[in-house]
Amino acid sequence: MAFEGLGERLQVTMDRIKSKGKVTESDVKVMMREVRLALLEADVNFKVVKQFVNQVKERALGSDVMQSLTPGQQVIKIVREELTDLMGGENQRINLGTKPPTVIMMVGLQGAGKTTTAGKLALHLRKNFNKKPMLVAGDIYRPAAIDQLETVGRQIDVPVFSLGDQVKPQQIVTEALAHAKAEHLDTVIIDTAGRLHIDENLMNELKDIKEIANPHEIMLVVDAMTGQDAVNVAESFNDLLDITGVTLTKLDGDTRGGAALSIRTVTEKPIKFVGMSEKMDGLEAFHPDRMAQRILG
Ligand code: GDP
Repeated sequence: MAFEGLGERLQVTMDRIKSKGKVTESDVKVMMREVRLALLEADVNFKVVKQFVNQVKERALGSDVMQSLTPGQQVIKIVREELTDLMGGENQRINLGTKPPTVIMMVGLQGAGKTTTAGKLALHLRKNFNKKPMLVAGDIYRPAAIDQLETVGRQIDVPVFSLGDQVKPQQIVTEALAHAKAEHLDTVIIDTAGRLHIDENLMNELKDIKEIANPHEIMLVVDAMTGQDAVNVAESFNDLLDITGVTLTKLDGDTRGGAALSIRTVTEKPIKFVGMSEKMDGLEAFHPDRMAQRILG
């Protein structure tokens, strides 16, 4: 289960301070040292850890907290609030625009979960927003990528637009948009190619597609299991494409949680969804407060 180690360690630390009638400055410092280590061990970006620890310390050492009747509980409340803030505060909804069709561009490295998440999003938007989505097979390089998207489309009964693997993605996207308009499909979700590593060709192609499709949402899909790498990937994609949101996949696995806790601060872009299973209904809106609650128990 995600965050298991981090959650356990933080809970032990929190319990220790909670039971104290009086909390001294040195108690808070000891606690924050433990919190710092727990976060670093959970693969949270060191800059993010530093910022978090300083923020909590500054608030917790204020006289109103130290002299309150329940200082331990106040300190815990501050940790919870700062953890929520770190992950973005409020849930950020997907941008759907006002004039159809809504265009969503899925980007990310190969294996991150783009194709799966494209299908999950289509289902989510149909179920919750009454949208009529269409999936676009824009990954012409990975063998079987088109087949995989078509399988996903059949599973959720959503049309898939494909021109095979001999037509350039730029042209596929142009034709897909025209097709969606003609068919009155109000949401176009473009699956794009991923690579094992970020390279210039991939990025240029994605920039072209962005230019052509003018997407309302550029959704970066990252694999939570890859920890610090996920954060580096997010930073690179954001620098080049100015992404609008992140979906963190495989949070059902035993990720230490570093990516979930770092991405928002490093990229300043919100995590909008999390993938909680391989199944098509395994997509959840990301709520930082609930996640903080889950981590801290
Ligand atoms: P793509 O190369 O980015 O299009 O990645 P895929 O959509 O093909 O996903 C790669 C693998 O990750 C597949 O086996 C998916 O079933 C799996 N996957 C995607 N999202 C999740 C998730 O949230 N949880 C789990 N457990 N597996 C996932």
